[in-house]
Amino acid sequence: MSNLAPEPEFEQAYNELVSSLENSSLFEQHPEYRIALKVVSIPERVIQFRVVWEDDKGNLQVNRGYRVQFNSALGPYKGGLRLHPTVNLSVLKFLGFEQIFKNALTGLMMGGGKGGSDFDPKGKSDAEIRRFCVAFMRELSRHIGANVDVPAGDIGVGGREIGYMFGTYRKERNQFEGVLTGKGLNWGGSLIRPEATGFGLIYYVGHMLEYAGAAGWKGKRVAVSGSGNVAQYAALKLIELGASVLSLSDSNGAIVAEGDNVVAPEDVNAIAELKLRRRPLTEFSHSGRFKYLEGARPWVHVGKVDVALPCATQNEVSKEEAEALVAAGCRFVAEGSNMGCTQEAIDVFEAVRKEKKGEAVWYAPGKAANCGGVAVSGLEMAQNSQRIRWTSEEVDSRLKDIMKNAFDSGLRTAKDYVKAAEGELPSLVAGSNIAGFVKVAEAMHEQGDWWTTSS
Ligand code: NDP
Repeated sequence: MSNLAPEPEFEQAYNELVSSLENSSLFEQHPEYRIALKVVSIPERVIQFRVVWEDDKGNLQVNRGYRVQFNSALGPYKGGLRLHPTVNLSVLKFLGFEQIFKNALTGLMMGGGKGGSDFDPKGKSDAEIRRFCVAFMRELSRHIGANVDVPAGDIGVGGREIGYMFGTYRKERNQFEGVLTGKGLNWGGSLIRPEATGFGLIYYVGHMLEYAGAAGWKGKRVAVSGSGNVAQYAALKLIELGASVLSLSDSNGAIVAEGDNVVAPEDVNAIAELKLRRRPLTEFSHSGRFKYLEGARPWVHVGKVDVALPCATQNEVSKEEAEALVAAGCRFVAEGSNMGCTQEAIDVFEAVRKEKKGEAVWYAPGKAANCGGVAVSGLEMAQNSQRIRWTSEEVDSRLKDIMKNAFDSGLRTAKDYVKAAEGELPSLVAGSNIAGFVKVAEAMHEQGDWWTTSS
């Protein structure tokens, strides 16, 4: 793709999008969109900076900070900040690229961006986290703003970190404005923002179940990975709707329900409390109701399963795990995490979708299924602009509408652009990719970001 340093994660995300576009009639109908693709795949701007901070022993520590301002055709750059030792430019470009099209699918006015640092919050004291966040935002604050770029949380960045960063921005710029989302409730945050990604995922898959005639969530056996923000609220909503949650996981291993046991709301709350203190799942006490599998992901261990929801990190479902899920009866897979499935796993799901008409596996990509988080961030920006706060019911009802529109738009676009056999479920990955891309490409064209010789 380029003669620059290899960027495997970004190339994977780019190739996934391109293969959707190529395997549809989009370029036949609109050959000019090839030019748009060339332009959209390069970020408008990449900011890299150093973050120097002091640990509790008084030692100087230094990390790399980044913000990828990928595309602003639909609105201010919008996307989370990730603090994790695996963060590098390839990972942030993949996340930023996905974010452009995800944000387009919400129907709100948001461009795409992503940022973060290779700082590892694990094992750090509260004071160290605060000093890091302050140092990080001192630099980042020059490049963002309520109408410029509005970051949010991601892995390693929750309410506490957003608070430290917002406070630093306010002081550095002497401005109180909606520059970050995921803020505290009494200083500009939106109700339902913490819940939004997990709840939105369950609303989205609810539409998949309904369309496929699979009769709602009640009694469905669901494998969930992760135990952070997305996994916790997905699990709570699943339990509320009568589904059985069979598993959770973290970066060290997985817990899988034994026998007739399932994850209960108290379990989720206990795990949430552990995770707030950045403790591993090994410390979760459950009196033998779960088995703990060191170093494992849940997929091949859950037994009979109807739905799989990766909610931890990228590439957490391999080809072999995808095959095991299909063999265990799984019919619906939707990514709470970004790029939760490897391309090989997606190929397995998509092949089964095409082959088996009645009992197909139906896969939904993160950019559609997990767009509820950024959607409520968009609603937080709207509330901040008006200096008002909506009720939980109002935000939740708008979130439901947005997830329905994201589902409908992927479905409709797949029907418009991808040939399918009679009775075949439309490809949500192709439909969502094309729908997001076309929206951004059109806006860029209208704003003169790309053109053809005849236009
Ligand atoms: P959290 O930091 O709250 O939780 C992340 C979870 O993933 C934890 O259980 C963590 O384990 C686990 N994890 C992290 N890295 C790895 C790894 N390399 N291997 C295995 N497990 C890992 O993050 P979120 O829940 O917010 O985010 C989860 C996913 O959802 C990410 O892909 C994120 O980009 C995506 N997402 C999040 C949104 C949001 O609103 N929060 C919006 C849309 C997408 P441990 O506790 O051991 O660190």
